[in-house]
Amino acid sequence: MPNTTDRSTGAQEYDALIIGAGFSGLYQLHCLRDRLGLSAQVLETADGVGGTWYWNRYPGARCESERHSYSYYFSKEILEEWEWSERYPEQPEIMRYLNYVADKLDLKRDIQFGTRVESAVYDEATNRWHVETEAGDQYTATYLITAVGCLSTANIPDIPGLDSFAGDWYHTGQWPHDGVDFTGKRVGQIGTGSTGIQAAPVIASTAGHLTVFQRTPNYSVPAHNGPLSAEFKQYLRENHDEIRAIMQSTPNGHPFRIADRNVADVTPDERLAIYEESWRTGGLRFRAAFRDLLLDKAANDTAAEFLKDKIRTVVKDPETAAKLANIDHPYAAKRPPIDTHYFETFNRDNVTLVDVRAAPIERITPTGIVTVNGEYPLDIIVFATGFDAMTGPLLGMDIRGRDGQALKDVWSAGPKTYLGLAVAGFPNMFTVTGPGSPSVLCNMPVAIEQHVEWITDCIAHMRENGIDRIEAGPEAAEKWVEHVNDAANATLLPLVKHSWYLGANVPGKPRVFMPYAGGMTRYRAVCDDIAAKGYEGFRKEGGGHEKHPPQGATVGDFGPAAAIDAPGV
Ligand code: NAP
Repeated sequence: MPNTTDRSTGAQEYDALIIGAGFSGLYQLHCLRDRLGLSAQVLETADGVGGTWYWNRYPGARCESERHSYSYYFSKEILEEWEWSERYPEQPEIMRYLNYVADKLDLKRDIQFGTRVESAVYDEATNRWHVETEAGDQYTATYLITAVGCLSTANIPDIPGLDSFAGDWYHTGQWPHDGVDFTGKRVGQIGTGSTGIQAAPVIASTAGHLTVFQRTPNYSVPAHNGPLSAEFKQYLRENHDEIRAIMQSTPNGHPFRIADRNVADVTPDERLAIYEESWRTGGLRFRAAFRDLLLDKAANDTAAEFLKDKIRTVVKDPETAAKLANIDHPYAAKRPPIDTHYFETFNRDNVTLVDVRAAPIERITPTGIVTVNGEYPLDIIVFATGFDAMTGPLLGMDIRGRDGQALKDVWSAGPKTYLGLAVAGFPNMFTVTGPGSPSVLCNMPVAIEQHVEWITDCIAHMRENGIDRIEAGPEAAEKWVEHVNDAANATLLPLVKHSWYLGANVPGKPRVFMPYAGGMTRYRAVCDDIAAKGYEGFRKEGGGHEKHPPQGATVGDFGPAAAIDAPGV
C-alpha cells in the first residue's frame, strides 16, 4: 500500500519503487518491505512474475545453470520446500518456482502488473523520484531500484523487407504464450547463440524443414540434461550450506570449482583425458577444466581444438561440419552455450545450415529470406538474435537524474556506474545487475542476491544515520569503469569483437565491455569493503554528512587486474 497519495497529482507515494518482477525485483521487494518495513511497490510490464523467464518461452528454453544453483539461497524454508525435477529446469518449471516464491512471501499484492514504466525523473527539491507509466499513472518514491534484468530488450535486426513477409515471425524473447505450431512448416531460424542452440533441435523435431542461418559459428558442450535421482535430491536437501559456500567462493557463482591447474601443467594425453571427462560431465562445467582457459590464448586454443574436433565427429556431412566448426573466437570468450543434441540436429534430413557470413542476408521477401546466393522459401522466421543487453532495458525508459540530465546522454559514450549499482548524478537510484557488475559473467541468482542485500543494507544504513541522499561520486565511478576495463583486458573476453558483452551486436551502440570480469568473489569483497568504510566513494547528504565530502584516498584501490583469475561465464 502507498504511504499516501498526493492530492494534487494523484501520484501514489512510496518509500521505494522497484522496476521489474523477475528474480531481482521479487527479492528486492521482500527485503525492503519485510526486512526494513518500507512501503514498496514493484512496477512490472508483464502480467506475471518471472522477468526474462516470463518472455523467453521459445522451444527448448531452459536454464543453463544447474537447478540447485539457480535458486534463492536467502531462505532455508524455500530451499527445503522446493524440489527441482531436472539438471537444467525448463522455462515453465522456473516460472512455477518464481510464482511459488512470490506466493509464499505474499509479494504479488505489492506488484502492479501490466505496467510499463516510461519515465523516472529525480526531483532535487523534494528528493523524490517521480515515475510515470505508459498508462499515465504516477508514483513517487525516495528510492528507485531498477531490477530490469540484463537480457530483456529484444534485438530484432533491421533486415529490409521484414514488414513484407507474408508468413509469421517471432523473436525468441517475445514468444507467444500459446506457443507456435511448426508442424510441417518451412522454418528459418536466424541466430546461433545460446538461445538458437537450444531452440533448433526442438523446432527441427516438428518442422517440415528447418533452415538455420548462421553468421558466427559457436562452440557448444552437451548439457547432459536429465531427471534428478532420489539420491541427488537427498544430497541437495542435506548440503545447502556447503553448496552455497562453493557458489559464493567461486568467481562465477556456479556450484563447482574451477580447477586450480593450467593447461601447461599437464601432458597432452592428460589434457585430452581431462577434456574428455569434462565433455562427459557436460554443461558449463567444461569451462572449469583449467584455470587459465580465459587468460591465455594458447591454453584456450587447446580447448577450442578439442571442441571443434567434437563438432567434426558428430556432424556427418563434412561440408556442414566445416561450416559449424569454422569458429574464430576463443572458447568461452562469448557466452558458451550448452545444448541438447544441437550438432546432431544437422544430421537430420529436414535441417539445412546456411552460412550467412560467407553469403550475407540481403533482404526478406513476402515468401522467404534472400541471401547473396538466392532465396530460401519460408513459412515462419524465428529471430534468435539476442538482446540489446545490459543497457537496453535501462535506456528503454526515460531516466533523468540531477538537473534533468538524461541517462541516455550521460551514457552516450557507454555506461558508467560505480560497482554496477549506482550512477553519478542519479541520487538514491540503484541498478541491480547494472553494467559494471559481474551479472552475466556469474550465475545470475548469486549475483542478484548479493546486489539486493547490498542495496538493502545501504538503504538501512541511510535510514539509521539520517542520510537523505546517496549518490555515486564521479571520481569513484571513473575509477570503477577503469577497473572494469582492466579486469576485462586481463582476460581473452575483449578479443571477441562481435559480442553482446561489448554491445557490438546492436548497430550504433558504443563498444564498451559492460560486465565486470574480475569475478564475483572479488566483487563481493570490494562491495563489502566499501560498505564497511561508510559507503566510500559515495556522496552522502544528511545525518551530519557534508554536501560534497572529499573522496577517500583509497577509493579506486580495487586490487590489481593481474590478480584477477578465472573469470566466470
Ligand atoms: P546472442 O548470444 O546475442 O546470439 C544472437 C545470435 O543471432 C548470434 O548468433 C548472432 O550472430 C545472430 N544474429 C544477430 N543479428 C543477426 C543478423 N542481423 N544476421 C544474422 N545473424 C544475426 O543471443 P542469445 O542466443 O539470445 O543469447 C543471449 C544471452 O542470453 C546468452 O549469451 C546467455 O547469457 C543468455 N541465455 C541464457 C540462457 C539460459 O541460461 N537458459 C538461454 C539462452 C540465452 P553474431 O554472433 O554474428 O552476432
